Amino acid sequence: APVVAVVGRPNVGKSTLVNRIIGRREAVVEDVPGVTRDRVAYDATWAGRRFTVVDTGGWLPDETGLAAAIAEQARLAVDLADVVMFVVDATVGATDVDEAVVEILRRSGKPVVLVANKVDDVAAESDAAALWSLGIGEPYPVSALHGRSSGDLLDAVLAALPEEAPAETFEEAGGPRRVALLGRPNVGKSSLLNKLAGENRAVVDSVAGTTRDPIDEEIELGGKVWRFIDTAGIRRRHRENQGADFYATLRTQSALERAEVAVVLVDADEPMAEQDLRIISMVIESGRALVIAYNKWDLLDEERRHYLEREIDRQLHNARWAPRVNISAKTGRHMEKLVPGLETALEGWGTRVPTSKLNQFFADLVNSHPHPIRGGKQPKILFATQAGVRPPRFVLFTSGFLEEGYRRFIERRLREEFGFEGTPLDITMKIRE
Ligand code: GDP
Repeated sequence: APVVAVVGRPNVGKSTLVNRIIGRREAVVEDVPGVTRDRVAYDATWAGRRFTVVDTGGWLPDETGLAAAIAEQARLAVDLADVVMFVVDATVGATDVDEAVVEILRRSGKPVVLVANKVDDVAAESDAAALWSLGIGEPYPVSALHGRSSGDLLDAVLAALPEEAPAETFEEAGGPRRVALLGRPNVGKSSLLNKLAGENRAVVDSVAGTTRDPIDEEIELGGKVWRFIDTAGIRRRHRENQGADFYATLRTQSALERAEVAVVLVDADEPMAEQDLRIISMVIESGRALVIAYNKWDLLDEERRHYLEREIDRQLHNARWAPRVNISAKTGRHMEKLVPGLETALEGWGTRVPTSKLNQFFADLVNSHPHPIRGGKQPKILFATQAGVRPPRFVLFTSGFLEEGYRRFIERRLREEFGFEGTPLDITMKIRE
């Protein structure tokens, strides 16, 4: 969903406005892991259009002073958002800090909707009109507290949102395969991107008739063009600093939304971190294909290599099926293995097993490894079908609940039998009493 970021000085009423926009009926976006403060991203709907509202307030420590903190907040918002809502306290008027923010917003070229808040009655409307002086267009007078006129404001926000992408499947879209380069800060994402783009021809022209997002880059690798998603975010790495963990998470999510396959970079020279595993889990949950690239392989001594070879399967417990490449973005080691990894993952992602084959497989499986008897009953798999691909989705009709351990066993056996390298599998049970 498109992102609307709310920016403004402390106490101008950002949180109140956000609450007003999301209303009571709107669900809060899932708690983003790693976020230690209050939630700041919410799902909202207006006139049938869904969007995500991000409250940028309270995210950045202001050790550096208010002006600098707000400026940083504004830059983050601009990076993330499709539309920025800039909130000013109309009763106070435009301050120097507000003007500095306007400068940043203006330079970004992002659409900005100016909110004149705390216009609680008609008398205060002249305060709002005074904000024309900021030079970023019409001020929308609202009272976030009392809900006054927020409808007009939301209409303006909607009008500024990008056109809704037509619902098309990946197949129909055609064009280059879409790759997200993910990983925590400093694992070498931008180094890898530079290496790939530098040694290979970066494709400038886009295919006629396809929409091409300028934040993506198309790079020819192994004789084929690949589209790398949100490379602007990767190249502008100074954004990934204090307080930005949350934004990194949001960016990872939005890159995944548009990608088909993710390359998760892990620093081979450092212990696996919580954050690495979290990013891998995000890929799995998004249902995208996955390749894991151990970067900085050039730094490893003999001992560390042996350690990785022994321990890695255990560390990657929920993603053992992902193709792995050991690379060095610095020396270029094994760059050529990346494309086969991507292709393997995408192939697994799109694999379809014929129903007859699938049911033969389950018949044999149930025969040789029946589900344990529970409460005098033994749940059976009656019928199985693959409901979809990208990722492969299976529906199992069973005569009872299959316990967790057995479901894991099924997944493992499916993988052994049919490959599915590099893809999460979605397995649903339908119990028929
Ligand atoms: P990003 O934050 O993920 O984009 O990481 P960068 O690409 O900026 O890399 C972070 C640091 O790691 C930089 O100092 C790079 O020079 C260094 N680096 C990246 N890849 C490698 C590698 O394969 N080997 C070594 N030795 N250093 C690397």
